[in-house]
Amino acid sequence: MPRVNSERAQALWRGIVDALRGELSSLVIDTYIEYAKGVDVTDSAFVLCCENTVAKEWIERNRREYIEKRLSAELNAPITLVCLASDEEAREYVAEREKPDGSSFSSEFTFENFVVGGSNRFAAAAAQAVAQGSTSSYNPLFIYGGSGLGKTHLLYAIANAYRADDSGRNVIYVRCEDFTNEFIETVRVGHLRSGREKEFRDKYRSPDLFLVDDIQFIAGKEQTQEEFFNPFNTLYEAGKQIVLTSDRPPKDRARLDERLRTRFESGLICDVQPPELETRVAIVKNKAASLGLALSDQVVSYIAENVTANVRQIEGVVKKLQAFAALLREPVTVTTAQQAIGDVFTEKMPPTADVIIDECERFYDLEPGSLASKRRDGKTARARQVAGYLMRVMPRMSFPEIGRALGRDHSTMIYAVEQIDGKRKNDPQLDTDIKDLMLNITNRQ
Ligand code: ADP
Ligand code: MG
Repeated sequence: MPRVNSERAQALWRGIVDALRGELSSLVIDTYIEYAKGVDVTDSAFVLCCENTVAKEWIERNRREYIEKRLSAELNAPITLVCLASDEEAREYVAEREKPDGSSFSSEFTFENFVVGGSNRFAAAAAQAVAQGSTSSYNPLFIYGGSGLGKTHLLYAIANAYRADDSGRNVIYVRCEDFTNEFIETVRVGHLRSGREKEFRDKYRSPDLFLVDDIQFIAGKEQTQEEFFNPFNTLYEAGKQIVLTSDRPPKDRARLDERLRTRFESGLICDVQPPELETRVAIVKNKAASLGLALSDQVVSYIAENVTANVRQIEGVVKKLQAFAALLREPVTVTTAQQAIGDVFTEKMPPTADVIIDECERFYDLEPGSLASKRRDGKTARARQVAGYLMRVMPRMSFPEIGRALGRDHSTMIYAVEQIDGKRKNDPQLDTDIKDLMLNITNRQ
């Protein structure tokens, strides 16, 4: 079991911070460096947990080389810096590393606890056929649909079924994003460490079952698509089973390599839709039973009727109710369910760019439409920077997305977000304004 080496990582990081103090202003240290923590150090990587996304990006852009050079010299091996953007990501990283058998898929998702209804019947049946190995014509199997509708659940279920029959077949599950990152890292250190690239290629050529989650992350990344195509094709031609998930069908994917698209379309494509009422009722019951929570029929219907978009939210509500029930020590009523639904929605739904723009324009007393307009007076410019900052920290939009929402290019928005992030720490008025705005925005939902 790989062990996380956090003490050593933290000690190394303190050394780097001390060295950086000599060359960076205390403002920069305070804003980006001081609150980062060393999470882990391996023989080829150093994992750093940054305070937030902005700090992570600053460090990656400005001090990556410096840090890698220093660590490589100190540890006498080429070290890659891996930055995480929150404590939550750090916890996930640690949990992943310390999993007992190093597997990266969870055994709690199975076909048994997947509720089948009209919205997912086809996908579930195809997944089951693939898991039983009873067909070779569903290759690749491509499952698409919105977030929280059970795509990952089905992938895990296939993997778990494959594993359970212990024929020694080799399963690889990979989130497309991780594959991409792993690939980039391999290329980055490839020229330093020969063998690393071969290792990467060998790894992705060996499985009998290859599961790739959230393939949408590959769109537009040409080199990664190229790299992905090779193992994909090798496996495909060797008759190995491949299952892919995506948020949209292949034909809707602009910026997807034509060869990949053709391959994806050559097998079976099926979708998962939001569950209909009956299925939602079954899911609520199922989830409550698995948590040992008793719910009246009235409460079950209330939840099923009011939480309609996705299964993840249904689960969130049932979990919340379990917590309430444990706290209040009384049976769950429709009123409690109402409150749980309210909580889950405000927690889960990030505000949209439009709401943020609207609230900033009101707050700063600007005409609607000012922020995305060409106006450059001081008040508008400041409000625009704040809006960009809020889009970054609340719905965590990417800089190009923020730029599009505000009619600016992405580098302007990187600068704007940095400005506000830096100023907030020394300008109590700005800090209060931002907190008020956040409250207004959250209350809008
Ligand atoms: P996706 O990958 O499509 O975003 P997930 O597979 O992660 O969604 O599903 C989100 C949550 O909802 C998971 O906890 C999953 O177990 C649960 N879930 C989704 N669909 C079903 C279903 N049909 N029956 C039971 N649980 C489901
Ligand atoms: Mg998923």
